[in-house]
This record gives sequence, C-alpha cells and structure tokens, in this order.
Amino acid sequence: MLKDKLGRVIDNLRISVTDRCNLRCLYCMPEEGLDWFPKEQILTFEEIERLVRIFAELGVNKIRLTGGEPLVRKNLHLLIKKLNAIPQIQDIGMTTNGLLFKKYAQQLFDAGLSRVNISLDSLDPKIFFEMTRRDQLNDVIEAIKEAQRIGFSPIKINLVPIKGMNDHEMLEFGHFARDENLDVRFIEFMPIGADDWTLDDVVPTQKIKDVLNQISPLVEVPHDERLPAAEYTFADGKGKVGFISSVTEPFCGSCNRVRITADGRFRTCLFSIEETNFLALLREGKTDDEIAKIIEERVWIKEPGHLINKDAFVKPTRTMSQIGG
Ligand code: SAM
Ligand code: SF4
Repeated sequence: MLKDKLGRVIDNLRISVTDRCNLRCLYCMPEEGLDWFPKEQILTFEEIERLVRIFAELGVNKIRLTGGEPLVRKNLHLLIKKLNAIPQIQDIGMTTNGLLFKKYAQQLFDAGLSRVNISLDSLDPKIFFEMTRRDQLNDVIEAIKEAQRIGFSPIKINLVPIKGMNDHEMLEFGHFARDENLDVRFIEFMPIGADDWTLDDVVPTQKIKDVLNQISPLVEVPHDERLPAAEYTFADGKGKVGFISSVTEPFCGSCNRVRITADGRFRTCLFSIEETNFLALLREGKTDDEIAKIIEERVWIKEPGHLINKDAFVKPTRTMSQIGG
C-alpha cells in the first residue's frame, strides 16, 4: 500500500499524455498557446505503461488520463488497451474537452475506457467562444451525445464558473444535468495557469448551491470521502451535481491522488513546487525496484495540502495543461 506520513493512502494516479491543446481556455493558457514540450521529452506509451505497472504493484488501481487535451495524442486507444491489461487497474477514466471525442469514442470505449469527464464551461456559443477562444460548442455537445449513445458511465461534465463570465448560467446547468441525465461538476477556479486570478473571480460553491436549490433542494449523496467532489442529487430525484471546492472548502486531508506530467515529472500535489524527474530515471536505466523505492519516498512526504489564500502560497510555474488537471 502506498501511504504518506499523514496516513493518506494513495491509489489514484493522474497521467497527462500531452501538454498540447486544441482550445485556449482563458483560465488555463494564453491565447497564443505555450511553448510545447519537445516530442522527444514526452513519455512514450511504453514508458507510461511501465510506470503504471510499478504504481499498480504499489497499490494504485485507478487511472485518469488527461492533458493538455489527451485526444490530440495519436492512438490513445493503444495506451488504454495496454493499461487495461494491467490486472490491478480497475478503473480508467479520461478528462477531455470533447472536440475530438466523437471521432475516437467507440475506439476508446472498445479499448477499455469507461468513465469520461467532458469539460463544458458555457451553453451559450458566444460565452463558450469567449472562454475557450474557439467556436466549437457544437462539437462538445456532439461529444456528450456520442458518449451517451455508446454507453460511457458515468459521464461527468466539468465546468469552471468564473464571476462575470458564465456565473449567470448556473441555473441553466442545473436544468441541463436534470434534462440530459448528466452529472455536472462545478470546479472552483484555482490560481494556476491564468496570471490574473483573484479570489474575487471565484464563484464559491455555496453561492451555486443557493441557485440550484431553487430548482429543487439539493440532497448530499454519501460518497467516497477521498474523492474531490461532494455529490448531490435534487430532492425530487432527478439529476446529479458535484462540487469541487478546492478554494473555499479544501479537501487535501483526504487526498488519494498523485500525478505524472507528459514530460514525466512526478508530482504529489497539483500545487507541488518540487517534482521528481521520472523521464530521466527511466531513460538512465533505473530498475523497477529502484523507481518503486523513489515513489514510496516521495509519496511519504506528500504535501499536507495546498496553501491557496495563505501568505505562504507559491503559484506553480506550470499551468494546469502542463501538469494535467
Ligand atoms: N483538456 C482537457 C479538458 O479541458 O477537459 C483536460 C485537461 S484540463 C487541464 C482538466 C480540467 O482542468 C478541465 O476541466 C479544466 O476546466 C480544469 N482547469 C483548468 N485550469 C483550471 C483552473 N485554473 N482552475 C480550475 N480548473 C481548471
Ligand atoms: Fe485545453 Fe483543457 Fe486547458 Fe482548456 S482546460 S486550454 S481544453 S487543457
């Protein structure tokens, strides 16, 4: 079992397969994009598989593929197939912006992907364009329909409410969750990526709950406390929503996650300041046992929690797309 010194058990690994993206969400990266990692410095599928096997031996059983936009990496289904064949891995999910999802959905499903989170920040084409700097709302809607048609389960919709941008759409998203039978998750805007984050831009979870309660009172659903989202249904039983309240109600005390970036850096917290260079360890010929020992050592000293809103907070130099959200 992989454990830190605070007793938290780590069984969930997020893997970023690329830092590149086909959207330019204003809370994540600048309009002109970023300096992408050189291709030769990206973990190969074989290297990812090897790392996941080592993690699986240590107790990891849940994987989430993310990015950047994971689907801009070619042949992702081949990686999913490899990871799905690792006996300890019980669950493979992916977070995607949906633009390319329709094209690859069946292939991904057949390879063993079951859970999908599709990001959708606005149901209004004008605001979607303002927030993502691309005019492709329709592709995301099509992605959601395709995921439903194929039978992905669960299908979760991720959205980042930002004051003055999309915060007037919360009621509409509540109805969307109910009408489309989707699980909509409201993620508080975090100080990572965008340079001009202020606490004022964050729409607190409580405010969204107040709005959604107008539809029908929210009822908390018992869930695994180690998951970041608090889950709710509406009292009339229709629709599901979740809240990831990283800023106003941090959940670091029950965190079970660690991350590997596309360029092979191991991070024990989204807000880590220090990283371990797995790419170098793999390429300089370390054995599985040696890498496993380094993982155990790093996990043991996992950060107790992030310091958002505290004087000691240091913003990571990487954006969310360079870490893997
Ligand atoms: N490109 C994919 C997508 O957008 O779904 C996967 C990677 S993206 C970095 C993963 C998630 O991080 C998305 O749901 C996005 O909304 C969220 N995200 C990015 N920057 C964020 C920020 N500063 N605060 C909160 N969530 C953020
Ligand atoms: Fe791309 Fe996802 Fe970042 Fe948007 S949030 S720019 S889709 S990586």
